[in-house]
Amino acid sequence: MTSRRALVIGGSLGGLMVAHLLRSIGWNAVVFERNDEELASRGVGLGTHPQLIAILRRAGIDFDDSMGITPPRGVCLDRHGRIIIEQPMARTLSGWSRLYRALLDALPADAYRFSKRLTRVEQDADGVTAIFADGSSERGDLLVGADGVRSTVRAQFLPEVQPVYAGYVAWRAVLDEADVPPSLWREVVDLYAFCLPEGEQLISYPVPGRDNDTAVGRRAYNIIWYRPTDAATLADISTDAEGRHHAAGIPPPLIRPEVIARIKADAKRLMAPQIAALLELTTPFFQPIYDLVSPRMVFGRVALAGDAAFVARPHAGAGTTKAALDAACLADSIRDAGGDLAAGLKRYEHKQMPFGKALVEVNRQEGAYLSAQIKPKADRTAAELHRDLGAVLHAHIARSEQIGEIVANHGLTGLY
Ligand SMILES: Cc1cc2nc3c(=O)[nH]c(=O)nc-3n(C[C@H](O)[C@H](O)[C@H](O)COP(=O)(O)OP(=O)(O)OC[C@H]3O[C@@H](n4cnc5c(N)ncnc54)[C@H](O)[C@@H]3O)c2cc1C
Repeated sequence: MTSRRALVIGGSLGGLMVAHLLRSIGWNAVVFERNDEELASRGVGLGTHPQLIAILRRAGIDFDDSMGITPPRGVCLDRHGRIIIEQPMARTLSGWSRLYRALLDALPADAYRFSKRLTRVEQDADGVTAIFADGSSERGDLLVGADGVRSTVRAQFLPEVQPVYAGYVAWRAVLDEADVPPSLWREVVDLYAFCLPEGEQLISYPVPGRDNDTAVGRRAYNIIWYRPTDAATLADISTDAEGRHHAAGIPPPLIRPEVIARIKADAKRLMAPQIAALLELTTPFFQPIYDLVSPRMVFGRVALAGDAAFVARPHAGAGTTKAALDAACLADSIRDAGGDLAAGLKRYEHKQMPFGKALVEVNRQEGAYLSAQIKPKADRTAAELHRDLGAVLHAHIARSEQIGEIVANHGLTGLY
């Protein structure tokens, strides 16, 4: 019997994992990515969870010590750079490009096609056709939309579903260990550090460096700073020096120099001096934070996976873990349904819809304090006015157990 063919739209981590897991059950899965070249140089730090590591192993990727860094403790630094709270932790931080490289290298070259921007999907009783911007088309038995938060596939089937801005952005920066003065590096090395001035949240941690190296001297340091940002300010910082507004996200090189100068000045005013000094050495960029909940994941022979279906705010660092669970559930549901693809897809949707919703909700709660900061003080609840810093740190460090509980509550432990 010839193997069935899956067209996977989107070649980031979600699409790559879908392709691997469908191939592991005997499907001929091919990835179509709109970008013209490898995405590896564009990623930064990525939190992992045991579920992600187990599913990567299912996909044939051995997540060994070289794949990540595990800082031994999490600390909260005050405005003067002193440690005010400290807790042991065991969370492994990897790099987006580390996982991308491993997943891409393990696929046959002809199973990943660049410069393929999907524009439309057509389907009938016998199959599904992907139509691309270059005029070409591809035919398969199944199409998986793993094309991210602005999914073209979702827009065709659920045009009314849009990401909802959460009221804050994540400023991000990454530095090579080699570019950090040794005295400064010693202050932060091995630290999973928080700075929590009123209304703000900054997290920083070591990640694999260039070439995905985890050796001392060749690592990198990753900074994520969540900043409440009202709609008018977001529109302003998303406007380039030529006056063009980039509603779907401003490319980092187009962020105006004065916007970057302002963020560095604010870091000096608000953050621990060692973190502000690190930020000073970088060119930070930002990503607005969104929630996205899809009311369906399956449309005939078409399924959504990863960020295309649900986007949870990044506090739990579980976007990639969720994409991995989607991929494993899709493959297992199809395999277990034998030749009945429709039944397999129905089972996939039945399992992953409540899980996706639960993950969005947990992260929404985690970010509620930040979202509330753009409201007038008089309109905020007590929890939106005050945070227990120890509780924030503790909850963050215990996140992997919480993800594990959500996974177990939704009956997904059999996937890894
Ligand atoms: C370049 C890049 C870097 C990232 N870096 C990080 C990081 O450092 N840390 C982190 O936590 N998360 C990062 N993410 C996000 C993280 O990968 C996701 O949250 C998670 O892995 C789930 O991803 P996804 O594959 O569902 O969606 P995404 O990662 O958003 O990928 C969607 C893919 O679909 C492609 N695509 C979109 N529309 C079309 C179309 N019409 N036709 C064909 N292809 C299309 C996009 O180019 C993209 O490659 C990054 C994403 C990208 C694209």
